[in-house]
Amino acid sequence: MLISSSTHKFRVAICGAGIGGLVLAITIGKFAGHDIHIDLYEAHDAITTSGAGISVPRRTAEVMVELGLSEKIPNPSPDYGLRLRKSNALKGGFEWFHFIFKTLKRGSTMHRKDLVDILEQNIPSSCTVHFNKRLTKYEKHSPGSLVLYFADDSTSTADVLVGADGIHSSVRKTFFETIGPDTVDPSKIRHYGDPSWTGTLVYRSVFPAEKLSKLDPSNVALKDFIIFCGKGKERRSMSQHMLLMNGKLAQPFEGHWVSDVSLEEAEEAYQDFEPDAKRLLNCFEKPSRWALHVVNELPLFTCDRVALIGDAAHAMTPYCGAGAGQAIEDAFVLGRLLAHPLTTLDNVPVALKAYQDVRLPFTQFVARGSGLTGKMYDFRRTWVL
Ligand SMILES: Cc1cc2nc3c(=O)[nH]c(=O)nc-3n(C[C@H](O)[C@H](O)[C@H](O)COP(=O)(O)OP(=O)(O)OC[C@H]3O[C@@H](n4cnc5c(N)ncnc54)[C@H](O)[C@@H]3O)c2cc1C
Repeated sequence: MLISSSTHKFRVAICGAGIGGLVLAITIGKFAGHDIHIDLYEAHDAITTSGAGISVPRRTAEVMVELGLSEKIPNPSPDYGLRLRKSNALKGGFEWFHFIFKTLKRGSTMHRKDLVDILEQNIPSSCTVHFNKRLTKYEKHSPGSLVLYFADDSTSTADVLVGADGIHSSVRKTFFETIGPDTVDPSKIRHYGDPSWTGTLVYRSVFPAEKLSKLDPSNVALKDFIIFCGKGKERRSMSQHMLLMNGKLAQPFEGHWVSDVSLEEAEEAYQDFEPDAKRLLNCFEKPSRWALHVVNELPLFTCDRVALIGDAAHAMTPYCGAGAGQAIEDAFVLGRLLAHPLTTLDNVPVALKAYQDVRLPFTQFVARGSGLTGKMYDFRRTWVL
C-alpha cells in the first residue's frame, strides 16, 4: 500500500488553468471534497482567456448542471443553428444549407470570458492555485511520486499529474519522451509531442456587432450564425466573433503561429467574396493571422499516474466549435473517476485507464469530424455526417 504524505487520499497536480484544468479542479472538489488535494499550476499570472464566442452544446450544458454551475449558462435557443452560404461570388452569394440543431437538442453560445469567470469563481477550497508556474518537465521518482520542474527553477511533487496545458503541452512532451520503446514506437515520439500545421491560416478579429449594423444594416451576418464558404476559404460570423480561414498546402509552419497583420492582407485573401462578406472585413479591428495547428492522433492519453486532457490531448480544428466542449467532458469524466470513493492511490492508474478508454476514441472521432467539416466548408467534400 502506497501512503500519501498527508491526510488526503492523494494529491493531484493539474498543469494549466484553462477551461479543462478549471473544470477538472471543480469536479474533483465537488465529488471528493478534501479527500483529494489539488495543486493547479498556471503559467500566466492570472486566469485569462482569449477568444470570444464559445459553443455550449447539450452535453457541455449537462456537465455544467451536474456541477451546479448552470445558472448563468444561456438556455438552449429553440432555433439555434447555422446557415452556410456559397460566398465566392463577387455579385452576391446564396445560402446552400440551413442546419438547425434543434433536432439534436443542441445548446447555444456564450462569451468565453463569462464561462471562464464562472469557473474561476467556483474553484474549490481543496485547490491551491499557483500562478507564474510554467511546467517545463516532470520526472517519476520512487516510490511513485512525481517531481515537477518549473521555468522559475522551482520544483514541486505530486501523486498524480494531469496535463491540461493546451496545444503546446509540456506534460505531453515529457510523457512521450519518457514513455519507453515497449509502449510507443521511438520514431513517433516527436510526431506525438509536437503539434502539426493543418495548412490553414486563420484571419481573426473581434469587433462590436453594432459596427456592422451601422455600416451595413441589412448584412446577412447580423441575422444569424452564418458561415461564408468559398473554395479553399471560409468566413464565419458568430455574433461579434470573426474567423477567416484560408486553406494552403500543409507543411511545417515557419515563423510565429499568431501575428498581427494589416487589414489589406486579410482583404486580399477574400477579394473574390460576396459584398456582405467583404463588408464584414471592413469592420475588422487589429486583425491577426493564426497558423492553425492540431495535436496528431495520440495512441494514449494516460500512463501510470499521468494523464492528458483537453487540447493537450487532442487540440483540433475549430470547424465544429467543439474543442472547449471536449475539454470540459474530458475533465468531468476524469474528475468523477479520480473522485470516486473506490479510487485509491494504488489504483489511480486503473481509473486513468478507464478515462482513456472512454474519452480517447470519442475525442478523436470528434476531431476527425471537425477536419471533414472544414473540407465541406471550402467545397473539398460534400457531406460528412
Ligand atoms: C481560432 C480558434 C477558435 C476556436 N473556437 C472555438 C469555439 O468556437 N468553440 C470551442 O469549443 N472551442 C474553440 N476553440 C478551441 C478551444 O479554444 C480549446 O479547445 C480550449 O480552449 C481547450 O481548453 P484547454 O483547457 O484544454 O486548453 P487551453 O485553453 O489552451 O488552456 C491551457 C492553459 O494551460 C496554461 N499552460 C500552458 N502551458 C503551460 C505550462 N507549461 N505550465 C503551466 N500552465 C501552462 C495556459 O496558460 C492555459 O491557461 C478554438 C480554438 C482556436 C485556435
